[in-house]
Amino acid sequence: MIGSGPNGLAGALTLARAGLAVEVHEAAPEPGGGVRTAELTLPGFRHDLCSAIHPMGRDSPFFRRAALGVDWVESPAVVAHPLDDGTAVVLERDLDKLDLGRDTGVYRALVEPSVRRWAELEPLVLGPFPLALRSLVPVLRLADSVRAALAAARPLAESRFETDRVRALFGGLAAHSVLPLERRPSAGFGLALAVLGHVAGWGFPRGGAQAIADALVAELRALGATIHVSSVVDELPEADVVLADVMPAELRRVARLPERYDRALGRYRHGPGAFKLDWALSGPIPWTASECARAATVHVGGTLDEISASEWGVWSGRPAERPFLILAQHTLFDPSRAPAGKHTAWAYCHVPNGWPHSMTERMEAQVERFAPGFRELVLARAVTAPADFEARDRNLVGGDLNGGTMDLGQLLTRPVRRLNPYRTPLPGVYLGSSATPPGGGVHGMCGYSAALAALRDRSRGDLHSASRSGSIR
Ligand SMILES: Cc1cc2nc3c(=O)[nH]c(=O)nc-3n(C[C@H](O)[C@H](O)[C@H](O)COP(=O)(O)OP(=O)(O)OC[C@H]3O[C@@H](n4cnc5c(N)ncnc54)[C@H](O)[C@@H]3O)c2cc1C
Repeated sequence: MIGSGPNGLAGALTLARAGLAVEVHEAAPEPGGGVRTAELTLPGFRHDLCSAIHPMGRDSPFFRRAALGVDWVESPAVVAHPLDDGTAVVLERDLDKLDLGRDTGVYRALVEPSVRRWAELEPLVLGPFPLALRSLVPVLRLADSVRAALAAARPLAESRFETDRVRALFGGLAAHSVLPLERRPSAGFGLALAVLGHVAGWGFPRGGAQAIADALVAELRALGATIHVSSVVDELPEADVVLADVMPAELRRVARLPERYDRALGRYRHGPGAFKLDWALSGPIPWTASECARAATVHVGGTLDEISASEWGVWSGRPAERPFLILAQHTLFDPSRAPAGKHTAWAYCHVPNGWPHSMTERMEAQVERFAPGFRELVLARAVTAPADFEARDRNLVGGDLNGGTMDLGQLLTRPVRRLNPYRTPLPGVYLGSSATPPGGGVHGMCGYSAALAALRDRSRGDLHSASRSGSIR
């Protein structure tokens, strides 16, 4: 296994549970990739380095099967979205408790069919891929939901919702796509996250995201797997199966690939980067809208127009003065992450890929806008810019947190158009990072699907050693 992010560890565990002797090589000094936690600011304040809220880490086909026994925390509300009038739109987990004013009925009509049929829809969204033909049947039954999911978020929000409040809420959910809200299928991300909020909740592990990595690593070690840290793989190792939790460019660097595949990987597109702040705080964030204290995730960005402008700014190379922030306030619900009475907060905004300038001022001004007095609570801050992300984890190319743009052209056909996207032309070599379906997020499904492909090939006996001359540099 090359790389030990959630996908790498998921792939490794799937292979180990199938009886293979597994060795994991991780470039960083700690395993975990995007699911790590550290005292980034002051002693006793524990911050998630990348991923912080895990709708799919709690409940994906891989994590359900893995049954890791992680202790999950969930806030009373899924997400809060403060507005300038001092109120907040709140997404409740329970559809029956949801109050979205005049748009409650429209929202329910849009989301509820998918909530009810999530078990049938889940394979379409998360896999494992490639999909069996029978998995496509729900597409016919839920044609309206599928059409909506393939749309762009802004026209969908404007055509379906009457109120600016719910348009803003939907814009915030859809902005997780890291796509302009006018581009397809940004609405699908908004819908999927809303549906997951009602089905599984947006949970997070007590103590930090690291708990996910720790549980996977413990399970692997119990099965006899070896994990080598600070071990950069520069050429394909000798093994029956090599599963790579790496980006396409890194695969091209370490493997000698057939020219056509190599060229196709060379056309792989990365999206915008992330600029992140972690704060150690002397108290909870003083939101004007008290409802914000009911949600671990807060979308800070105002109206749909503003969020749309923020995401356009990112794609046009000029981040907005008022960026859209995704903010997590774990310590309100998990005090173990900070000294008694103190708090942490985690937030990022999108920036152009590799953006070298600071967003600190603009981000803090946005929090201050909806929580006056916030700045006075800051004891310390840690800044992670795109280059810092990439230095820590080479999969975060230019700070791209989704492992490649997730537009229609690259959503399911990542990294290249192939019947089985996990197989490479090199026998025994599989790609299982977020550059494969279903893409970014902590769900383990890329690594899991890649491992399943390897095991299927192995059982068919058409696997040769990956160390054939030609496959090694
Ligand atoms: C700021 C930020 C916030 C995020 N927030 C969330 C969130 O709240 N919820 C969510 O679900 N997702 C979130 N994500 C996305 C999530 O973290 C990633 O999608 C996920 O970690 C991808 O997993 P992966 O295993 O494919 O890659 P990674 O987690 O990036 O792991 C890849 C690993 O492979 C190693 N590696 C690469 N090349 C080599 C090599 N040649 N040799 C050895 N090792 C190598 C790297 O060092 C790294 O440890 C966030 C990401 C970022 C950056």
